[in-house]
Amino acid sequence: MAIECLVLGAGQEVGKSCVVATIGGKRVMFDCGMHMGYHDRRHYPDFARALAAWGAPDFTSALSCVVVTHFHLDHIGALPYFTEICGYHGPIYMTYPTKALAPFMLEDYRKVTMDQRGQEEQYSYEDILRCMKKVIALDLKQTVQVDKDLVIRAYYAGHVLGAAMIYAKAGDAAMVYTGDYNMTPDRHLGVAQIDRLKLDLLITESTYAKTIRDSKHAREREFLKAVHKCVSGGGKVLIPTFALGRAQELCMLLDDYWERMNLMVPIYFSAGLTIQANMYYKMLIGWTSQKIKDSHAVRNPFDFKHVCHFERSFINNPGPCVLFTTPGMISGGFSLEAFKKWAPSEKNLITLPGYCVAGTVGHKLMSGKPTRIDLDKDTHIDVRCQVAFQLILYVTENCTIFKK
Ligand SMILES: [Zn+2]
Repeated sequence: MAIECLVLGAGQEVGKSCVVATIGGKRVMFDCGMHMGYHDRRHYPDFARALAAWGAPDFTSALSCVVVTHFHLDHIGALPYFTEICGYHGPIYMTYPTKALAPFMLEDYRKVTMDQRGQEEQYSYEDILRCMKKVIALDLKQTVQVDKDLVIRAYYAGHVLGAAMIYAKAGDAAMVYTGDYNMTPDRHLGVAQIDRLKLDLLITESTYAKTIRDSKHAREREFLKAVHKCVSGGGKVLIPTFALGRAQELCMLLDDYWERMNLMVPIYFSAGLTIQANMYYKMLIGWTSQKIKDSHAVRNPFDFKHVCHFERSFINNPGPCVLFTTPGMISGGFSLEAFKKWAPSEKNLITLPGYCVAGTVGHKLMSGKPTRIDLDKDTHIDVRCQVAFQLILYVTENCTIFKK
């Protein structure tokens, strides 16, 4: 049985994951991601080229279904564009948590990029809502009959809440597409698990697959040491992250540490939507690790004791604090506002995620420590603060090899 694959994104790069596989005569789109590094047409997979290659009149008749593995934008960011602007209205599948949490990610990103010049074919908030309404939610290991010949099934992938690996079978051909997955547990998620399956094709994410890292424990210690040192010196710690995933993992780590060390310094979340997202995390406890499921009867670990909501005016408050903001790569939004304010003081610390795309302030900071950043010809930021990157990379990346 011939299997054909059309790789529309993430073939030779990180970003805009989108693979269309034809198995047993059925065409399935796995993931529908965006590339965060581009603000033009390259932002989305080249759907028009695909349609031309298939010779189909429209996407709905060309595809049997779309399946999305998890809520990260490089896996779901193009979905509202694909349904509301390209006009696909066939079935879309993702797990319950992905369906619940994806709108936060999409809207957060949409708001940040709304006023970026050159941003083409951006979708609206209403588009996101209309798109998500069409999604059919999946449970783990539930076998779903898409049509009389095609079945799909989702397996636990770790990585972020609700992340899944997808099994698809049509006729006598079967395959698995993974998206990101984790083979080591983290603070709130278990490890990827899948049945023993007979497959004709396996497509697997491989970002960081060959990276050898320090142990998770050592990284956590290093991160906490840097944060503690900064706040004891009266400094402010800025942690730009995505609204979901890493933010919750780091919050659990800091909340625990604050409790143990009896620290009184406030930890803030800048975005109201993250507080709302934390509420979803509390509700979706069944998708976390066994340890959390066992202990949450005593105390829900997403009820953070030391984390409070941030008001915009707090940015000028004196004294130490820790602040989580979006977006992760300081490409705009409140991350950039706080960075402008705090970067000039050597007391402060900025932590960066492991990967920042070109064109963002995060990327400039990672490519050699600049003393000044020119945002445009009138806006310059003196950078005297400490900058730490890679410190928080240990969380939720699909790396399977760790240094002992
Ligand atoms: Zn991911």
